[in-house]
Amino acid sequence: MTAVESLRCRECGRTYPVEARHVCDFCFGPLEVAYDYDKMRALVSKESIAAGPPNMWRYAEMLPIHLPSVIDLSPGFTPLVRATRLGQHLGLDNLYLKDDTRNPTGSFKDRVVAVALSKALELGFKVAACASTGNLANSVAAHAARAGMASVVFIPRDLEATKIAMTAVFDGNLIAVDGSYDDVNRLCAELASERPDWAFVNVNVRPYYSEGSRTLAFEVAEQLGWRAPDHVVVPIASGSQLTKIHKGFHELGLLGLIEDGDSVRVSGAQAAGCGPVATAFETGADSIRPVRANTIAKSLAIGNPADGWYALEIVRTSGGAIEGVSDPEVIDGIRLLARTEGIFAETAGGVTIATLCRLAAKGIVRRDEVVVAYITGSGLKTVEALGDTVGPSATIKPTLEAFNALTSEEINI
Ligand SMILES: *Cc1c(COP(=O)(O)O)cnc(C)c1O
Ligand SMILES: [Zn+2]
Repeated sequence: MTAVESLRCRECGRTYPVEARHVCDFCFGPLEVAYDYDKMRALVSKESIAAGPPNMWRYAEMLPIHLPSVIDLSPGFTPLVRATRLGQHLGLDNLYLKDDTRNPTGSFKDRVVAVALSKALELGFKVAACASTGNLANSVAAHAARAGMASVVFIPRDLEATKIAMTAVFDGNLIAVDGSYDDVNRLCAELASERPDWAFVNVNVRPYYSEGSRTLAFEVAEQLGWRAPDHVVVPIASGSQLTKIHKGFHELGLLGLIEDGDSVRVSGAQAAGCGPVATAFETGADSIRPVRANTIAKSLAIGNPADGWYALEIVRTSGGAIEGVSDPEVIDGIRLLARTEGIFAETAGGVTIATLCRLAAKGIVRRDEVVVAYITGSGLKTVEALGDTVGPSATIKPTLEAFNALTSEEINI
Protein backbone atom coordinates (compact mmCIF):
# COMPACT_ATOMS: atom_id res chain seq x y z
CA MET A 1 0.00 0.00 0.00
CA THR A 2 1.14 3.51 -0.68
CA ALA A 3 -0.25 6.95 0.11
CA VAL A 4 1.18 8.61 -3.00
CA GLU A 5 -1.26 10.97 -4.67
CA SER A 6 0.64 12.61 -7.53
CA LEU A 7 3.73 14.57 -8.46
CA ARG A 8 3.32 18.25 -7.61
CA CYS A 9 5.25 21.35 -8.72
CA ARG A 10 7.02 22.97 -5.79
CA GLU A 11 6.53 26.41 -7.33
CA CYS A 12 3.04 26.59 -8.89
CA GLY A 13 1.38 23.52 -7.31
CA ARG A 14 0.26 21.92 -10.61
CA THR A 15 -0.04 18.16 -10.33
CA TYR A 16 1.18 15.39 -12.63
CA PRO A 17 0.73 11.62 -12.76
CA VAL A 18 3.17 9.35 -10.92
CA GLU A 19 5.68 8.74 -13.72
CA ALA A 20 9.28 9.54 -14.72
CA ARG A 21 9.13 13.31 -14.84
CA HIS A 22 10.93 15.97 -12.82
CA VAL A 23 10.10 19.50 -14.03
CA CYS A 24 6.86 21.41 -14.36
CA ASP A 25 5.81 22.01 -17.99
CA PHE A 26 4.39 25.41 -17.06
CA CYS A 27 6.93 27.07 -14.76
CA PHE A 28 9.95 24.71 -14.91
CA GLY A 29 9.77 24.28 -11.12
CA PRO A 30 10.96 20.98 -9.63
CA LEU A 31 8.36 18.27 -9.05
CA GLU A 32 7.92 16.61 -5.70
CA VAL A 33 5.95 13.55 -4.59
CA ALA A 34 2.64 14.52 -2.95
CA TYR A 35 0.95 12.20 -0.45
CA ASP A 36 -2.48 11.82 1.03
CA TYR A 37 -1.53 12.14 4.70
CA ASP A 38 -4.91 10.94 5.95
CA LYS A 39 -4.31 7.75 4.03
CA MET A 40 -0.73 7.51 5.28
CA ARG A 41 -1.91 8.02 8.86
CA ALA A 42 -4.17 4.99 8.48
CA LEU A 43 -1.30 2.90 7.09
CA VAL A 44 1.36 3.48 9.77
CA SER A 45 1.69 3.50 13.54
CA LYS A 46 4.62 3.33 15.95
CA GLU A 47 3.77 -0.35 16.42
CA SER A 48 3.60 -1.22 12.71
CA ILE A 49 6.92 0.52 12.13
CA ALA A 50 8.55 -1.25 15.10
CA ALA A 51 7.36 -4.57 13.67
CA GLY A 52 9.03 -3.84 10.31
CA PRO A 53 12.48 -4.94 9.14
CA PRO A 54 15.66 -3.44 10.67
CA ASN A 55 16.30 -1.26 7.63
CA MET A 56 14.61 1.71 5.94
CA TRP A 57 11.84 -0.49 4.48
CA ARG A 58 10.22 -0.30 7.94
CA TYR A 59 8.89 3.03 6.55
CA ALA A 60 7.81 1.55 3.20
CA GLU A 61 4.25 2.87 3.56
CA MET A 62 5.68 6.37 3.82
CA LEU A 63 7.76 6.00 0.63
CA PRO A 64 6.63 6.31 -3.01
CA ILE A 65 7.14 2.62 -3.82
CA HIS A 66 5.33 -0.69 -3.66
CA LEU A 67 7.15 -3.12 -1.39
CA PRO A 68 7.17 -6.22 -3.62
CA SER A 69 9.26 -4.40 -6.22
CA VAL A 70 12.05 -3.13 -3.99
CA ILE A 71 15.68 -3.73 -4.76
CA ASP A 72 16.92 -4.74 -1.33
CA LEU A 73 20.49 -4.33 -0.11
CA SER A 74 19.10 -3.56 3.37
CA PRO A 75 19.90 0.14 3.55
CA GLY A 76 19.22 2.38 6.54
CA PHE A 77 18.26 1.97 10.18
CA THR A 78 21.85 2.88 10.92
CA PRO A 79 22.92 3.55 14.52
CA LEU A 80 22.14 6.83 16.28
CA VAL A 81 25.21 7.09 18.49
CA ARG A 82 25.32 9.12 21.70
CA ALA A 83 28.56 11.10 21.34
CA THR A 84 29.60 11.81 24.91
CA ARG A 85 33.31 12.33 24.32
CA LEU A 86 32.94 14.54 21.26
CA GLY A 87 30.13 16.37 23.07
CA GLN A 88 32.42 17.06 26.03
CA HIS A 89 35.08 18.38 23.68
CA LEU A 90 32.57 20.76 22.08
CA GLY A 91 30.65 21.69 25.23
CA LEU A 92 27.47 19.92 24.12
CA ASP A 93 25.55 17.82 26.64
CA ASN A 94 23.21 15.97 24.26
CA LEU A 95 25.09 15.28 21.05
CA TYR A 96 24.18 12.36 18.78
CA LEU A 97 25.68 11.13 15.51
CA LYS A 98 23.62 9.45 12.81
CA ASP A 99 26.20 6.96 11.56
CA ASP A 100 25.30 6.53 7.91
CA THR A 101 28.78 5.25 7.11
CA ARG A 102 27.15 1.86 7.84
CA ASN A 103 25.12 1.54 4.69
CA PRO A 104 25.56 -1.24 2.08
CA THR A 105 27.90 0.87 -0.10
CA GLY A 106 29.13 3.08 2.73
CA SER A 107 27.06 6.23 2.33
CA PHE A 108 23.57 7.67 2.76
CA LYS A 109 23.13 7.50 -1.03
CA ASP A 110 21.87 3.93 -0.61
CA ARG A 111 18.67 5.39 0.86
CA VAL A 112 17.91 7.54 -2.16
CA VAL A 113 19.05 5.05 -4.78
CA ALA A 114 17.03 2.24 -3.19
CA VAL A 115 13.87 4.32 -3.67
CA ALA A 116 14.78 5.70 -7.11
CA LEU A 117 15.69 2.39 -8.70
CA SER A 118 12.89 0.44 -7.03
CA LYS A 119 10.52 3.02 -8.52
CA ALA A 120 12.34 2.81 -11.87
CA LEU A 121 11.78 -0.96 -11.97
CA GLU A 122 8.14 -0.44 -11.08
CA LEU A 123 7.82 2.05 -13.98
CA GLY A 124 9.37 -0.51 -16.35
CA PHE A 125 12.90 0.87 -16.80
CA LYS A 126 15.71 -1.58 -17.57
CA VAL A 127 18.64 0.87 -17.53
CA ALA A 128 19.81 2.88 -14.50
CA ALA A 129 21.94 5.99 -15.04
CA CYS A 130 23.30 8.91 -13.04
CA ALA A 131 25.74 11.79 -12.76
CA SER A 132 27.72 11.37 -9.57
CA THR A 133 30.28 12.95 -7.25
CA GLY A 134 31.22 9.37 -6.24
CA ASN A 135 28.90 7.91 -3.63
CA LEU A 136 25.89 7.93 -5.93
CA ALA A 137 27.97 6.06 -8.52
CA ASN A 138 28.81 3.32 -5.98
CA SER A 139 25.21 2.93 -4.96
CA VAL A 140 23.64 3.01 -8.43
CA ALA A 141 26.11 0.42 -9.73
CA ALA A 142 25.47 -1.85 -6.72
CA HIS A 143 21.67 -1.58 -6.81
CA ALA A 144 21.59 -2.12 -10.58
CA ALA A 145 23.73 -5.24 -10.16
CA ARG A 146 21.42 -6.51 -7.43
CA ALA A 147 18.38 -5.96 -9.65
CA GLY A 148 19.94 -7.25 -12.86
CA MET A 149 19.52 -3.86 -14.49
CA ALA A 150 22.08 -2.35 -16.85
CA SER A 151 23.79 0.77 -15.49
CA VAL A 152 25.53 3.77 -17.03
CA VAL A 153 27.29 5.90 -14.45
CA PHE A 154 28.98 9.22 -15.25
CA ILE A 155 31.67 10.69 -12.96
CA PRO A 156 34.27 13.46 -13.12
CA ARG A 157 37.52 11.66 -13.96
CA ASP A 158 39.44 12.99 -10.91
CA LEU A 159 37.39 11.14 -8.26
CA GLU A 160 39.01 9.23 -5.40
CA ALA A 161 40.47 5.89 -6.54
CA THR A 162 38.34 3.92 -4.07
CA LYS A 163 35.11 5.44 -5.30
CA ILE A 164 36.06 4.52 -8.87
CA ALA A 165 36.91 0.92 -7.86
CA MET A 166 33.78 0.61 -5.72
CA THR A 167 31.70 1.48 -8.77
CA ALA A 168 33.63 -0.43 -11.43
CA VAL A 169 33.59 -3.68 -9.45
CA PHE A 170 29.84 -4.02 -10.05
CA ASP A 171 30.62 -4.25 -13.76
CA GLY A 172 28.13 -1.80 -15.19
CA ASN A 173 29.22 0.98 -17.54
CA LEU A 174 31.37 3.63 -15.85
CA ILE A 175 32.10 6.71 -17.92
CA ALA A 176 34.81 9.07 -16.60
CA VAL A 177 34.27 12.58 -17.95
CA ASP A 178 37.02 15.11 -18.43
CA GLY A 179 35.32 17.90 -16.46
CA SER A 180 33.78 18.93 -13.14
CA TYR A 181 30.67 17.41 -11.58
CA ASP A 182 28.67 20.35 -12.91
CA ASP A 183 29.89 19.49 -16.44
CA VAL A 184 28.91 15.85 -15.90
CA ASN A 185 25.52 16.89 -14.62
CA ARG A 186 24.89 19.12 -17.63
CA LEU A 187 25.85 16.26 -19.96
CA CYS A 188 23.42 13.94 -18.18
CA ALA A 189 20.60 16.49 -18.37
CA GLU A 190 21.12 16.58 -22.16
CA LEU A 191 21.40 12.80 -22.41
CA ALA A 192 18.26 12.29 -20.36
CA SER A 193 16.11 13.90 -23.05
CA GLU A 194 17.82 11.82 -25.73
CA ARG A 195 17.41 8.54 -23.79
CA PRO A 196 13.97 8.69 -22.19
CA ASP A 197 14.12 4.91 -21.71
CA TRP A 198 16.93 5.29 -19.13
CA ALA A 199 16.14 6.02 -15.50
CA PHE A 200 18.53 8.84 -14.51
CA VAL A 201 18.28 8.75 -10.74
CA ASN A 202 19.05 12.45 -10.36
CA VAL A 203 17.15 13.65 -13.45
CA ASN A 204 13.90 12.03 -14.58
CA VAL A 205 13.32 9.95 -11.42
CA ARG A 206 14.74 12.59 -9.07
CA PRO A 207 11.38 13.21 -7.33
CA TYR A 208 11.46 9.60 -6.06
CA TYR A 209 15.20 9.63 -5.42
CA SER A 210 15.07 12.60 -3.06
CA GLU A 211 12.18 11.13 -1.02
CA GLY A 212 14.56 8.46 0.30
CA SER A 213 16.36 11.06 2.44
CA ARG A 214 13.22 11.53 4.58
CA THR A 215 14.11 8.23 6.26
CA LEU A 216 17.04 10.11 7.88
CA ALA A 217 14.44 12.06 9.86
CA PHE A 218 12.10 9.10 10.46
CA GLU A 219 14.89 6.99 11.94
CA VAL A 220 16.32 9.70 14.18
CA ALA A 221 12.87 10.45 15.62
CA GLU A 222 12.16 6.76 16.23
CA GLN A 223 15.63 6.21 17.75
CA LEU A 224 15.13 9.17 20.11
CA GLY A 225 11.92 7.52 21.35
CA TRP A 226 9.54 9.29 18.95
CA ARG A 227 10.62 12.85 19.42
CA ALA A 228 12.42 15.33 17.19
CA PRO A 229 15.89 16.61 18.01
CA ASP A 230 16.23 20.33 18.75
CA HIS A 231 18.92 20.92 16.14
CA VAL A 232 20.36 18.95 13.21
CA VAL A 233 23.57 19.58 11.26
CA VAL A 234 23.43 18.33 7.67
CA PRO A 235 26.00 18.46 4.84
CA ILE A 236 24.90 20.21 1.65
CA ALA A 237 25.82 19.17 -1.91
CA SER A 238 22.68 19.67 -4.05
CA GLY A 239 20.77 20.52 -0.87
CA SER A 240 18.25 17.72 -1.41
CA GLN A 241 19.10 15.78 1.74
CA LEU A 242 18.76 18.83 3.98
CA THR A 243 15.35 19.78 2.59
CA LYS A 244 14.07 16.20 2.91
CA ILE A 245 15.24 15.76 6.50
CA HIS A 246 13.29 18.91 7.34
CA LYS A 247 10.28 17.59 5.44
CA GLY A 248 10.55 14.23 7.21
CA PHE A 249 10.22 15.74 10.70
CA HIS A 250 7.30 17.90 9.52
CA GLU A 251 5.52 14.83 8.16
CA LEU A 252 6.00 12.88 11.39
CA GLY A 253 4.23 15.77 13.09
CA LEU A 254 1.39 15.66 10.51
CA LEU A 255 1.02 11.93 11.12
CA GLY A 256 0.87 12.41 14.88
CA LEU A 257 3.96 10.26 15.42
CA ILE A 258 5.83 13.14 17.11
CA GLU A 259 4.65 16.41 18.67
CA ASP A 260 7.53 18.69 17.78
CA GLY A 261 7.98 18.15 14.04
CA ASP A 262 8.14 21.83 13.15
CA SER A 263 10.53 23.05 15.83
CA VAL A 264 13.74 21.45 14.56
CA ARG A 265 16.52 23.95 13.84
CA VAL A 266 18.37 22.93 10.68
CA SER A 267 21.99 23.93 10.07
CA GLY A 268 24.01 23.22 6.93
CA ALA A 269 27.63 22.25 6.32
CA GLN A 270 29.70 23.02 3.23
CA ALA A 271 33.37 23.15 2.28
CA ALA A 272 34.63 26.70 1.68
CA GLY A 273 36.11 25.43 -1.62
CA CYS A 274 32.56 24.73 -2.81
CA GLY A 275 30.24 26.70 -0.57
CA PRO A 276 27.67 28.54 -2.70
CA VAL A 277 24.91 28.03 -0.11
CA ALA A 278 27.20 28.95 2.81
CA THR A 279 28.20 32.13 1.00
CA ALA A 280 24.58 33.07 0.29
CA PHE A 281 23.75 32.51 3.96
CA GLU A 282 26.66 34.61 5.15
CA THR A 283 26.00 37.50 2.80
CA GLY A 284 22.22 37.42 3.18
CA ALA A 285 21.90 37.02 -0.60
CA ASP A 286 18.51 36.39 -2.24
CA SER A 287 19.90 33.91 -4.76
CA ILE A 288 22.65 31.29 -4.95
CA ARG A 289 25.59 32.22 -7.12
CA PRO A 290 27.20 29.12 -8.72
CA VAL A 291 30.90 28.52 -8.03
CA ARG A 292 33.72 26.44 -9.51
CA ALA A 293 34.42 23.66 -7.01
CA ASN A 294 37.86 23.20 -5.47
CA THR A 295 37.90 21.10 -2.28
CA ILE A 296 38.93 17.68 -0.97
CA ALA A 297 35.26 17.15 -0.05
CA LYS A 298 34.50 15.85 -3.53
CA SER A 299 31.22 14.20 -2.57
CA LEU A 300 29.88 17.70 -1.77
CA ALA A 301 31.49 19.44 -4.75
CA ILE A 302 28.40 20.71 -6.56
CA GLY A 303 29.00 24.30 -7.67
CA ASN A 304 25.43 24.84 -8.87
CA PRO A 305 23.18 23.09 -6.33
CA ALA A 306 19.69 22.24 -7.62
CA ASP A 307 18.03 22.51 -4.20
CA GLY A 308 20.39 25.10 -2.77
CA TRP A 309 17.77 27.82 -2.57
CA TYR A 310 15.26 25.59 -0.78
CA ALA A 311 17.96 24.48 1.67
CA LEU A 312 18.89 28.09 2.38
CA GLU A 313 15.27 29.04 3.07
CA ILE A 314 14.86 26.16 5.53
CA VAL A 315 18.04 27.07 7.40
CA ARG A 316 16.99 30.72 7.61
CA THR A 317 13.42 30.13 8.72
CA SER A 318 14.28 27.36 11.20
CA GLY A 319 16.90 29.47 12.99
CA GLY A 320 19.95 27.48 11.90
CA ALA A 321 23.16 28.59 10.21
CA ILE A 322 25.54 27.43 7.47
CA GLU A 323 29.32 27.41 7.62
CA GLY A 324 31.85 26.94 4.83
CA VAL A 325 34.89 25.21 6.33
CA SER A 326 38.45 24.99 4.98
CA ASP A 327 40.07 21.76 3.80
CA PRO A 328 42.46 21.63 6.81
CA GLU A 329 39.41 21.96 9.10
CA VAL A 330 37.82 19.03 7.20
CA ILE A 331 40.85 16.82 7.95
CA ASP A 332 40.82 17.96 11.59
CA GLY A 333 37.10 17.13 11.71
CA ILE A 334 37.67 13.60 10.39
CA ARG A 335 40.45 13.03 12.93
CA LEU A 336 38.54 14.57 15.84
CA LEU A 337 35.55 12.31 15.16
CA ALA A 338 37.79 9.26 14.85
CA ARG A 339 39.75 10.07 18.02
CA THR A 340 36.75 10.84 20.22
CA GLU A 341 34.07 8.44 18.95
CA GLY A 342 35.76 5.66 16.97
CA ILE A 343 33.92 6.52 13.75
CA PHE A 344 35.85 6.95 10.50
CA ALA A 345 34.03 9.32 8.16
CA GLU A 346 34.78 10.49 4.67
CA THR A 347 35.50 14.12 3.84
CA ALA A 348 31.78 15.03 3.92
CA GLY A 349 31.71 13.84 7.55
CA GLY A 350 34.76 16.02 8.21
CA VAL A 351 32.84 18.98 6.77
CA THR A 352 29.92 18.26 9.11
CA ILE A 353 32.08 17.90 12.22
CA ALA A 354 34.14 21.01 11.37
CA THR A 355 30.87 22.93 10.93
CA LEU A 356 29.55 21.58 14.22
CA CYS A 357 32.78 22.79 15.91
CA ARG A 358 32.24 26.31 14.57
CA LEU A 359 28.54 26.41 15.43
CA ALA A 360 29.22 25.18 18.97
CA ALA A 361 32.02 27.74 19.44
CA LYS A 362 29.68 30.53 18.28
CA GLY A 363 26.89 29.35 20.56
CA ILE A 364 24.56 28.78 17.60
CA VAL A 365 24.35 25.12 18.57
CA ARG A 366 23.55 25.36 22.27
CA ARG A 367 24.86 23.20 25.11
CA ASP A 368 21.45 21.96 26.25
CA GLU A 369 20.02 21.20 22.80
CA VAL A 370 19.50 17.64 21.58
CA VAL A 371 21.77 17.85 18.54
CA VAL A 372 22.09 15.31 15.73
CA ALA A 373 24.99 15.54 13.27
CA TYR A 374 24.55 13.46 10.12
CA ILE A 375 27.71 11.48 9.23
CA THR A 376 26.87 10.53 5.67
CA GLY A 377 29.79 8.53 4.27
CA SER A 378 32.60 6.14 5.21
CA GLY A 379 36.23 7.21 5.54
CA LEU A 380 37.39 4.10 3.67
CA LYS A 381 36.33 5.85 0.48
CA THR A 382 38.51 8.95 0.90
CA VAL A 383 41.63 7.64 2.64
CA GLU A 384 43.85 9.61 0.27
CA ALA A 385 42.42 12.91 1.56
CA LEU A 386 44.20 12.28 4.86
CA GLY A 387 47.57 12.27 3.06
CA ASP A 388 50.49 12.10 5.46
CA THR A 389 48.46 13.41 8.41
CA VAL A 390 48.11 9.77 9.52
CA GLY A 391 50.66 6.96 9.72
CA PRO A 392 52.51 4.77 12.23
CA SER A 393 53.67 6.45 15.47
CA ALA A 394 57.03 4.76 14.95
CA THR A 395 58.66 2.06 12.83
CA ILE A 396 60.99 -0.30 14.68
CA LYS A 397 63.06 -3.48 14.37
CA PRO A 398 61.32 -6.57 15.84
CA THR A 399 63.25 -6.43 19.15
CA LEU A 400 62.36 -5.52 22.75
CA GLU A 401 65.31 -3.21 22.77
CA ALA A 402 64.00 -1.21 19.85
CA PHE A 403 60.57 -0.95 21.48
CA ASN A 404 61.98 0.10 24.83
CA ALA A 405 64.07 2.77 23.11
CA LEU A 406 60.97 4.62 21.86
CA THR A 407 60.73 8.20 23.10
CA SER A 408 57.67 9.59 24.90
CA GLU A 409 56.77 11.36 21.68
CA GLU A 410 56.76 8.10 19.75
CA ILE A 411 54.67 6.21 22.29
CA ASN A 412 52.13 8.06 24.31
CA ILE A 413 49.97 6.05 26.71
C1 LIG B 1 25.68 13.29 -1.90
C2 LIG B 1 26.20 13.41 -0.51
C3 LIG B 1 25.74 14.39 0.40
C4 LIG B 1 24.76 15.49 0.08
O1 LIG B 1 23.72 15.22 -0.69
P1 LIG B 1 22.68 16.27 -1.32
O2 LIG B 1 21.39 15.64 -1.09
O3 LIG B 1 23.04 16.35 -2.79
O4 LIG B 1 22.84 17.60 -0.64
C5 LIG B 1 26.23 14.34 1.69
N1 LIG B 1 27.13 13.44 2.08
C6 LIG B 1 27.62 12.51 1.24
C7 LIG B 1 28.65 11.56 1.74
C8 LIG B 1 27.17 12.46 -0.08
O5 LIG B 1 27.66 11.53 -0.90
ZN1 LIG C 1 5.03 24.72 -11.90
